[in-house]
Amino acid sequence: MDITLSVLKADIGSIGGHIQPSEAVIAGVSKALERDGADLLTDSHIGWTGDDIALLMTHPHGTGDARIHELAWNAFLAGTEEARKQGLYGAGQDLLADAFSGNVRGMGPGVAELSIRERAAEPFVLFAADKTDPGAFNFPLYAAFADPMNTPGLLLSPALTAGFRFVIMDVSHTGGDRVIELDAPEDLYRIAALLRDPERYVVESVWSRHAGEQAVAASTSRLHNIAGKYTGKDDPAMLVRVQKDFPATGEILAPYAHGHFVGGGMRGSHNMPLMPVPRMSGTSYFDGPPIVTGTAFCVQEGKLTEPVDVFAHPFWHRIRERITEKAVDMRRQGFFGAAMLPMDELEYTGITSLLDDLDTEFHVREAAAETPSASRAS
Ligand code: MG
Repeated sequence: MDITLSVLKADIGSIGGHIQPSEAVIAGVSKALERDGADLLTDSHIGWTGDDIALLMTHPHGTGDARIHELAWNAFLAGTEEARKQGLYGAGQDLLADAFSGNVRGMGPGVAELSIRERAAEPFVLFAADKTDPGAFNFPLYAAFADPMNTPGLLLSPALTAGFRFVIMDVSHTGGDRVIELDAPEDLYRIAALLRDPERYVVESVWSRHAGEQAVAASTSRLHNIAGKYTGKDDPAMLVRVQKDFPATGEILAPYAHGHFVGGGMRGSHNMPLMPVPRMSGTSYFDGPPIVTGTAFCVQEGKLTEPVDVFAHPFWHRIRERITEKAVDMRRQGFFGAAMLPMDELEYTGITSLLDDLDTEFHVREAAAETPSASRAS
């Protein structure tokens, strides 16, 4: 059966700052989705990660369907109404447009969609991250789909040895989708050269070269490109099909044990390690740390199984402790150097006016013999 998995994710208000949505907001979203989606959806699931709510919907209408996007948009509006009633922080924060206009891409919410022909068994994992940006998935996707050090299936499984095609987007380009398609393993160094810069180059999708089937769909929106100012981090979502023609679930999950540094954390302006956490986890330390949840499902004829929490296993307890240490270590150096993102990532924040002011006070010393402190004192 041909089905589409659509994930739309947004921050529409949370309790106590940027921590987590309220039960009333989630109920508002859920009620609207149930009421308006009855004729459109085959199945749906609502989850949250930090301050973001993710709607997973299955349906037969293909990717980018205006009715599905409008359904999600209206559900987020219904949740926003509850958030306003409760005085939640950042109510409607990610709904950047005044009215829905055909497709939520470019309107604030993150979008990841996969149209697939269901396999006899169709396992997949929904990843949702908070307090970081879409480039956070560059490292785990490269490791899982291109590196046999992480994924032994690239050596051991005939379906995987054919390699994978990466579709990579230049997210700094605002005049349309600027993308490149590169094949692993032949283009490995070229893929690496792009993905090393996760603030600019982001994996949009990954395809099996053996089966010609799409394995990954990831959201790529950069809110500051849409809004022209800092409006919160982009908090990506991603769908990853697993097993058979794709890496095994464990190969997909393994890279998250590294707690790699990503852009995000406080004011979206820092480098912090990404912590894999159980579903429905809020944020805390330094408005973070950046977190990722993983929810596994199987789907058949569009019907979802119950969700399974991939990061709830005891293995991840120690990983989280180590990532906590990494986070605190990085925070010890405050705003210096690698602790804070580079200037081009801060240009949508208030630091630009501070630096503009300072710029007018700089002067170029004219005489080599001039000693400013002495001349000022005399
Ligand atoms: Mg968020």
